[in-house]
Amino acid sequence: MSPKRGLLERLENNEVVIGDGGFVFALEKRGFVKAGPWTPEAVLENPEAVRQLHREFLRAGSDVMQTFTFYASEDKLDNRGNMAGKNHGCSAINEAACDLAREVADEGDALVAGGVCQTPTYLSGKGKEACQVEFRKQLEVFVKKDVDFLIAEYYEHVEEAEWAIEVCKATGKPTACSLCIGPDGDLHGISPGDCAVRLAKAGADVVGVNCHFGPIKSLETMRLMKEGLDAAGLKCHLMVQPLGFHTPDCGVQGFIDLPEFPFGLEPRICTRFDMHKFARESYDMGIRFIGGCCGFEAYHIRAVAEELSKERGKLPTSSVKHGMWGAGLKLHTKPWVRARARQEYWQKLNPSSGRPFSSSMSMPDGWGITAGDSLLIQHTEGTTDNEMKQVFSKAKA
Ligand SMILES: [Zn+2]
Repeated sequence: MSPKRGLLERLENNEVVIGDGGFVFALEKRGFVKAGPWTPEAVLENPEAVRQLHREFLRAGSDVMQTFTFYASEDKLDNRGNMAGKNHGCSAINEAACDLAREVADEGDALVAGGVCQTPTYLSGKGKEACQVEFRKQLEVFVKKDVDFLIAEYYEHVEEAEWAIEVCKATGKPTACSLCIGPDGDLHGISPGDCAVRLAKAGADVVGVNCHFGPIKSLETMRLMKEGLDAAGLKCHLMVQPLGFHTPDCGVQGFIDLPEFPFGLEPRICTRFDMHKFARESYDMGIRFIGGCCGFEAYHIRAVAEELSKERGKLPTSSVKHGMWGAGLKLHTKPWVRARARQEYWQKLNPSSGRPFSSSMSMPDGWGITAGDSLLIQHTEGTTDNEMKQVFSKAKA
């Protein structure tokens, strides 16, 4: 087999690169990730579960196998009584994640992306040098394992993302960077347009957003980022990897502030037809790296790949069984269901929630606590009963 073409080669050729979906959320539901720390020690404890999820995304059309290294910086692995780092070691977790991603990527034409993200060190206000020390521990593994490119993602402060880009670029690998921000900008109040300019100037090859907001809000943010880049005369590839949830009522902190986060979000899940729409709008905006984050499952990625199948000149493997726009329903025994075997039906559907007393919007929490606040200072000991009392009383106030 000829060597795979790299990320930048594909993007510069104006090809669509499809990312994957949300590993922590999917694997938490299956019982392999603990909600709370959200760390990825499953790569060592349950490698078959991680491998299978990579395979589902590959089958659904993903061109990128992102290492399951979300929150795998050493400071996060050992945060607040989470023993993952001490039990397994930061390097061992990152290495196992690289091996799993590579194994599945090589079952197809997918690339391996090494992922780093926001750190407790930043939230604790320890500064640039300390954050970069944390990033480098993961990057050393990614260089050793020779990943194809890097994704620095899930930053709610553009400043921390700039520090990450600096050390990512120093490896010589292509670097994509996305912030988990919405139209209101980062948590220090910096607008999406200014954030995008700063990421591009820091040297990111691809810039955009991931997580915290659904497809509609994320594309609103991307439009603002693009305007910022255009106004500054900067050319940069664009990426978007939103939540698989609708978030029209979110404030600056996104879905973390919703009372339903993280265990009651199901009524907000996007349909596959929402994802067709999302894929088309992303493409029309000029975004070529299109994927998903939390709540985004393999069937959502399949919908993205189906929507863009003409542009890509191929359908994903999992569409062979599935057929486009419910074509398989022609085989259904009931005639009224057979009548749904058409594109127009699903495109026009306005799905009901099935919850007679459910409101369409929530009132997000808005504690306004961000980097620099004493309540965000992290430690390795478990959260104490007294600390819990403090947050309970704040929640009631
Ligand atoms: Zn996410």
